[in-house]
Amino acid sequence: MLDIDPGVVLLPGLVDTHVHICEPGNTEWEGFASATMAAAAGGITTLVDMPLDSAPVTVSTSALDIKRRAAQGQCAIDVGFWGGVIPGNLDELGSLHDAGVLGFKCFLADSGSGDFPPVDGRQLTAALRVLRELHAPLLVHAESAEAAAAVPQARGRSYAGYLAAHPRGLENLAIAQVIEAARTTGGQAHIVHLSSSDALPMIPSARGDGVRLTAETCPHYLILTAEEIADGATAAKCSPPVREAANREMLWSGLNDQVLDLVVSDHSPCTAMMKELDSGDFALAWGGISSVQLSLPLVWTEARRRGFTLTDVASWMAERPARLAGLTGKGRIAVGCDADFCLFAPGEHFVVEPDRLHHRHPVTPYSGRTLSGVVRGTMLRGRFVTGERPQGRLLARATS
Ligand SMILES: [Zn+2]
Repeated sequence: MLDIDPGVVLLPGLVDTHVHICEPGNTEWEGFASATMAAAAGGITTLVDMPLDSAPVTVSTSALDIKRRAAQGQCAIDVGFWGGVIPGNLDELGSLHDAGVLGFKCFLADSGSGDFPPVDGRQLTAALRVLRELHAPLLVHAESAEAAAAVPQARGRSYAGYLAAHPRGLENLAIAQVIEAARTTGGQAHIVHLSSSDALPMIPSARGDGVRLTAETCPHYLILTAEEIADGATAAKCSPPVREAANREMLWSGLNDQVLDLVVSDHSPCTAMMKELDSGDFALAWGGISSVQLSLPLVWTEARRRGFTLTDVASWMAERPARLAGLTGKGRIAVGCDADFCLFAPGEHFVVEPDRLHHRHPVTPYSGRTLSGVVRGTMLRGRFVTGERPQGRLLARATS
């Protein structure tokens, strides 16, 4: 029997479907052991790895094999994989699906990795057509490459300059493109890390027409605001960018209205040097925020102030991500599901100290911030995750 403190709530183990693990190839940025320990410390029991930051990128079954071998025996929690869609790998999608990826990811703009180029509109449509037959979702980084090319790039320490170089229109245009591609093909599309609140009204409109569309946002868009990001504070650089406070409030409304389905970390790590903390140059710094360990208390801190409940949070951060990834045995406390739990003390508080973060490079824009909610323990299949012996499994489609 578990002896649980009355101030502790039993949540379903969280499911984070947007985590970049860079092993093999860029393990000095992040690896399976460090990322999964950080996730476990944050109450997450399942994560799904993005296909682009390792070498090789996960765009073929041979690359997936290499990735799985690298992960084997290292994972503190369960790990699944997204496959990649890039120009020219359409013929690989069926075999990647058979090999167990949970779905696919593509970019419509530069991914930052030369090995993972973006697809154009024709290729997006072709991929959705193939994936419809496989019953697999296509996760899309929705920023328009054509529109981005026309915007002058800002250099230097100004956050306003960085924001101006990544206007909402890049997202709005790309999300409209994804909607039309999903409409014409009948494929299932998912918008990752939605930042532009302008795009929200398009989503229920499309769903009303029968378009199969879901969307996520991330803790940084729900917590940070452009107004408070100091010039040179590149720890907060991500892409698409954190926007204004009014935009943040619209994203919370999007969650309330169920226009946004889920909240996932987009844990996107790199070395401290790549964050250009000394120069503070937003053009040079890596775009990505490492937050897998903090996503639950970050979201809860803001959610409770707005009157949301832990049931809402569990829906955004466990049940719906599991559904996106087709993990029917995850994300819920229910008979037949895995006994994955997060023991959470919602009324407690703590101050973010980078030294206590388990991910490889403890660079964080949240240092010194007081957050509500403390993860007291994480259980995977009924056993506490201690880190002494990795007990995570590598998940394949339809096995969980
Ligand atoms: Zn990402």
